[in-house]
Amino acid sequence: MSSPDITPADVAAVNQVLQTTTLSIGPQIEAFEKATAEYVGAAHAVGVNSGTSGLHLAVIAAAVQENELVITSPFSFVASANAILYERAIPVFVDVDPKTGNLDPLLVAECASDLTRGGSAADKWLPPSIKNQKSKIKNLTALLPVHAYGQPADMDPILAAARQYDLAVIEDACEAIGAEYKGRKAGTLGAAAIFAFYPNKQMTTGEGGMLVTDRKDWANLFRSLRNQGRDVFDGWLNHTRLGYNYRLDEMSAALGLAQIKRLDELLAKRARVAEWYNERLAKQECIELPYLAPTTTRMSWFVYVIRVKPPASRDEIVRRLAAVGIPSRPYFTPIHLQPFYRDRFGYQRGAFPVTEYLGDVALALPFSSVMTEAQVDFVCENLLRAHLNISEQW
Ligand SMILES: *Cc1c(COP(=O)(O)O)cnc(C)c1O
Repeated sequence: MSSPDITPADVAAVNQVLQTTTLSIGPQIEAFEKATAEYVGAAHAVGVNSGTSGLHLAVIAAAVQENELVITSPFSFVASANAILYERAIPVFVDVDPKTGNLDPLLVAECASDLTRGGSAADKWLPPSIKNQKSKIKNLTALLPVHAYGQPADMDPILAAARQYDLAVIEDACEAIGAEYKGRKAGTLGAAAIFAFYPNKQMTTGEGGMLVTDRKDWANLFRSLRNQGRDVFDGWLNHTRLGYNYRLDEMSAALGLAQIKRLDELLAKRARVAEWYNERLAKQECIELPYLAPTTTRMSWFVYVIRVKPPASRDEIVRRLAAVGIPSRPYFTPIHLQPFYRDRFGYQRGAFPVTEYLGDVALALPFSSVMTEAQVDFVCENLLRAHLNISEQW
């Protein structure tokens, strides 16, 4: 599906760390943090061992308490909503824009208004199984928009709603490093943002993530929380607060540093692969190409996702591509329909129609910066053949 882009220089950078005695909390993470803060244009960057741990720490920094509400997107990777559950808060899903798959800002504003008002106005937004436990529900405290596929959410109206209702904004920018919204970098729009560096992301550290923020107090808190709750001035065995081991090791940080130095090149290579796909798949009856909003002044291509519309069948295409050895998969599978979200919150199909529609038709094709034009050709030839055969059958 995807491949990391690793050069001999990347390998050498990691190797070099292994020649030293400092394999954690050393010069590499410091340099990687500095380079990321500079790249993004944020005052502080704090490395962690995954995007998910970064999301968790941002939710803690936003002081989200048990049974408080956080508005987020159901059309995302499950980690963005899970981070809210880690703090025993309640994710309130709001449906997405059908074109971008990002949070619909009008619905966010409406939802924030209704939840702030409370009473029966709040009902339609709450998870089904929570509606009859309203006495335990507390106030709305944060917004957690996701920049899906590497395209920034429409942040200005979301930020306006946040100001109006005094909500912290956490950007899940795990798929969007380098992306720009109206000329502003993803990661600088909310109070804190998280990038992720799993091997399928635009740049990788193996496992890893990075929090960015302009708030010094939050950066200090992140440093403490990732390191077992030690404060910067604490001794090794003095723990000021409940913390975690979310540290990023030096080998990973060295790889991240080498990769972020090449990030613009990596993003340009991905944009070229996306362009190859666009050229070959344009103007097909049942295939819709990725949509870029006018507010997206720079796309950071994380995945290449088309929509396969009836009479063609997305799932049949997946099977036919698999038969010739081409991996492809639905992306995303709606969070509210994941088994434990259904069990815990009582969600059923129909709760978020746009998200579910996208979940039914979206198909991620093989995609990475190391893909060749010949490989794109091979995927597209097989895809078009599969989709034509299916259309004919109908
Ligand atoms: C990748 C990703 C994450 C989590 O990253 P990990 O490093 O795998 O924990 C969170 N949110 C979104 C939208 C992602 O794509």
